[in-house]
Amino acid sequence: MHSIFRLTLLSVALSAAMAQAQTQRPDFAQVQSRAEGHVRQFPGLSMHGADHRYHVRDIVVDADGGQHVRMDRSIGGLRVIGGDLVVQTDRMGNLRAMHHTMRWQAGATGKPTLNAQRAAMVVTRTQDGTVGKPELVLYARDQVPALAWDVPVSGESADGTPFEKHVIVDAATGSQLDLWDDIHTAAATGTGKTIYSGNVTLTTNSVSGGYELRDPSRGNTYTINLKNRTSGGTIFTDADNTWGNNSTSDTASAGADAQYGTAVTWDYYKNVHGRTGIANDGKGAYNRVHYSRNYANAYWSDSCFCMTYGDGDGTSLKALVSLDVAGHEMTHGVTSRTANLTYSGESGGLNEATSDIFGSMVEFYAANANDPGDYLIGEKIMVGGGSLRSMVKPSSDGGSADCWYSGVGSLDVHYSSGVANHFFFLLAEGTNSSYGKSPTCVSGNTRVATGTGTLTGIGRNAAAKIWYRALTTKMTSSTNYAGARAATIAAAAELVGTLGADYSAQVAAAWSAVGRN
Ligand SMILES: [Zn+2]
Repeated sequence: MHSIFRLTLLSVALSAAMAQAQTQRPDFAQVQSRAEGHVRQFPGLSMHGADHRYHVRDIVVDADGGQHVRMDRSIGGLRVIGGDLVVQTDRMGNLRAMHHTMRWQAGATGKPTLNAQRAAMVVTRTQDGTVGKPELVLYARDQVPALAWDVPVSGESADGTPFEKHVIVDAATGSQLDLWDDIHTAAATGTGKTIYSGNVTLTTNSVSGGYELRDPSRGNTYTINLKNRTSGGTIFTDADNTWGNNSTSDTASAGADAQYGTAVTWDYYKNVHGRTGIANDGKGAYNRVHYSRNYANAYWSDSCFCMTYGDGDGTSLKALVSLDVAGHEMTHGVTSRTANLTYSGESGGLNEATSDIFGSMVEFYAANANDPGDYLIGEKIMVGGGSLRSMVKPSSDGGSADCWYSGVGSLDVHYSSGVANHFFFLLAEGTNSSYGKSPTCVSGNTRVATGTGTLTGIGRNAAAKIWYRALTTKMTSSTNYAGARAATIAAAAELVGTLGADYSAQVAAAWSAVGRN
């Protein structure tokens, strides 16, 4: 509850003062002594008492020279929780108003019944985390000021977000008076006006003078503007917490796309696979957008643990910050922290396919009407339509393999990935689905599938869980397509309890349908 004590009798007209705006920085000592003078002069308004002391925390100066002096209060040397106040004066130093929430005057107090050690024990019984040194305070929030212990508790919650709690314990009775977390106070809700995903909600960080594009609720993941350079850059900041304008004319638009992609990918891995962050350690990776000039690619780097996005060359590719590309890049991080599939030969194809698979799953998970889920990669970033790759019929890009054959590993990893992408599509959706007809491989040793065999999909959620389990518990750096077949069949058999059915036969059939018997 906030009550405001207003001093109308002492008000003076502001019109004259408006003409002479005071811009220079106020003399700190003078401001403090003047504000304290007002506080002492009007104890009925300030709740001032003989042993009250004040410490200036912030000064806001209006254009007309008016001042707002924010002070914390101590009584008898004890910090008062709820004792802070703002003294508002005009440019001549006349008192205009006093704002605070303390409703009862308080003076010197006795000794606490409960000592610090017992206060800490009380908190240990009810809170997880590390209990710090209790501080004796006066608690004055909506009650007559009374002795209390402020007991700090630090640690990490299940999703990896750190907490710095304050538990306020009544120093007479041991009961809990209040509890808050200093970490959560920073999170704010903003709006991202993205290029590809419409207007989305972004959790951002409140800082002095505005906001920064950092998400305290998702491992502090953030986005940097490289400003067309290849290094350095600065985190995006904004005064009103609205990022971009749905167009590349505002550099923050691409930043909003990247930050959104990071948030959705974080949520997908956490909520679907129980993985908190790319390294499963609760820490967020970060994005760098506007890399170089006309850079028509995006990449994940293990050394910086970050994603980098180019603006595209404008002739074949637009800015590479779409949702599926974001999910693709971050999945490279997941792979490097798990199977670490070597980025060459068949393992390299499996590495790329893993990123295409989960990049697509992230797109489905977002359920964003501006970028609906599909089995195409990069369909949003093509100049003139099309997509970078298709999981329905990988060879439609002119380079990817639909089917496994001896020697498929000598293709570029973005082409040998086609076999696993095709496998995943057939397992999830089958040969005939609303996402298109997916032909099977006739005898194996053909790069382009032309078969007409029929498979029924098990659903993408089941297929994704099988692939994730295979990736994180069975595949290793040199796993090839034969190994991937064995790993996914084993994973499917182990997931009977989770999926409610044993899909290992369907997994085997889908591999056979892409020529990897
Ligand atoms: Zn990739």
